[in-house]
Amino acid sequence: MIIQDIRNIAIIAHVDHGKTTLVDGMLKQSGIFRANQIVQERVMDSNDLEKERGITILAKNTSVRYQGYKINIVDTPGHSDFGGEVERVLKMVDGVLLLVDASEGPLPQTRFVLRKALELNLVPVVVVNKIDRPDARISEVVDEIYELFFELGANDEQLEFPVVYAVARDGMATMDPDEPGTDLKPLFETIVNHFPAPQGDPEAPLQLLVNNTEYDTYVGRIAIGRISQGTIAAGQTVTVIDHDGNTRNFRTGRVYVYEGLERVEVPKATCGEIVVVSGLEDIKIGETIADKDNPVAIPPIKVDEPTLEMT
Ligand code: GDP
Repeated sequence: MIIQDIRNIAIIAHVDHGKTTLVDGMLKQSGIFRANQIVQERVMDSNDLEKERGITILAKNTSVRYQGYKINIVDTPGHSDFGGEVERVLKMVDGVLLLVDASEGPLPQTRFVLRKALELNLVPVVVVNKIDRPDARISEVVDEIYELFFELGANDEQLEFPVVYAVARDGMATMDPDEPGTDLKPLFETIVNHFPAPQGDPEAPLQLLVNNTEYDTYVGRIAIGRISQGTIAAGQTVTVIDHDGNTRNFRTGRVYVYEGLERVEVPKATCGEIVVVSGLEDIKIGETIADKDNPVAIPPIKVDEPTLEMT
């Protein structure tokens, strides 16, 4: 079954190429916020260490709405793979937006994440941003991106990526750099039409791989992941399967989905959605949250020691 109204994507960008600005523009156009006050306070790049290193370490998720679609945007770490985080984050999405500055072109720090995305068979879309820059060299940068995809072993389909041109700062996107658009509609259209919708059966036994965990001051330990199949509800008894196949039962606390920059509590969520679940004490990354009567694990993602890769 295809979950037509959801798209799960990640944005890969070198720091300062305009990711925050683009997401803010999408949030504004999706009308989630009346004022941009909250957008100003967003945390996507607020971590000092990230600024210092020119990369994004913490994954912060956002969602925007376009017509009948909900687009979950999972933030990716920059180039460093902290304990396999890149892979874990990318496993939650079906496509990646590669955002590139029209003057600087693709920079080496994004290679690692892009290569992982291509290896995982994710569908790419390229956004060439800041085409308003006087020193923009749009067609050269597009050539450099093709070259990069080629070097990283993109398959034939991936090499046919659409290119959207943007001035994120003005909330503008266009498919033709010689014809400036008026808003981000061309980008939204490309996202909903080019990226595959999630697949899964909402009636099947629950399966949810825990891609990340966090600690929340109010609800304690929380698990973040994408529902592969079935439905998860607040207060439901579930079976958690660990790395060795051992199981333990829990009652879920609350279930949240992403709306804009916030987490919104919902009574239940179905497959395709990226959810936050509380109440699962000691839950670990790589464990599966499963149906209690039919517990089947999803093969976990290897959690490596941190590596720092530049190629
Ligand atoms: P991030 O680090 O990728 O999140 O980048 P930001 O969104 O913080 O943007 C970095 C800088 O680029 C900011 O000063 C933005 O105002 C600027 N910027 C973003 N989009 C555009 C654009 O389309 N054109 C120009 N000229 N500048 C932009």
